[in-house]
Amino acid sequence: MKYKNICFIVAMEAEARPLIKAFCLEEDFSYAHGLPMRAWSIKSKGLNIHLVINGQDAESKLDLIGTQAATLNTHLAISHFEPDLMISAGTAGAFHEKGAQIGDVYLSHPYVIFHDRRVDIPGWKEMGVGRFPVVDVSRLASQLNLKCGVITTSNSLDMTETDEEIIRRNGGEIKEMEAAAVAWVAALHQVPFFCIKAVTDLVDVPHATVEQFQQNLQMAVDNLTKATVKVIGAINF
Ligand code: SAH
Repeated sequence: MKYKNICFIVAMEAEARPLIKAFCLEEDFSYAHGLPMRAWSIKSKGLNIHLVINGQDAESKLDLIGTQAATLNTHLAISHFEPDLMISAGTAGAFHEKGAQIGDVYLSHPYVIFHDRRVDIPGWKEMGVGRFPVVDVSRLASQLNLKCGVITTSNSLDMTETDEEIIRRNGGEIKEMEAAAVAWVAALHQVPFFCIKAVTDLVDVPHATVEQFQQNLQMAVDNLTKATVKVIGAINF
């Protein structure tokens, strides 16, 4: 695996800041032309690294999480930087019963799906789920001692019974709110793609997701940053 122009897409500024620092990225003010998205970059020793975030909602001043902003930002990032690899990096929920623990870092494998696009008609049903392929990172994961799993996306932090049933049916292990949208746009542009996700919360334990998320965000983001630095180190050798 050799990539020379890598672009991270991250939803929340709190997830992005430690990565921006770790890679010594500088803000690129020519990026989004009045849209809320922001970008940082560095060129060093033949390797370009970019990181884009979705920016903030003008009214609430909160980070633009979810698939709409991720879709727009992925298209913007691919048009602007022409990366040879897109990586969706961030935090996620996971399943205790599948062996996940708070703070674990997962790479996406072997695909990324949606779990909230329900259309119960043959053909449309499968299209709703998506099953977007990702770069085969299974060897990279075992080399770096990271876990691997199917990433599953919706626009909600909570998990309804129907969501859970769809996640289980499709083998979903890592639940978040952007990856499948990024995967779709990357596939349209034929840009290789995978995810790095750190677990902030377990969705199948009797503790509120929101509280777990807030409590564990910093630790998960630290783990995300360390793992991401290792992935970039390993990816070009
Ligand atoms: N900003 C809010 C919470 C956002 S949580 C706060 O500070 O309280 C949602 C973000 O974290 C999304 O970008 C999503 O991708 C990720 N995430 C973490 N755990 C998740 C889960 N259990 N389900 C869905 N998304 C999750």
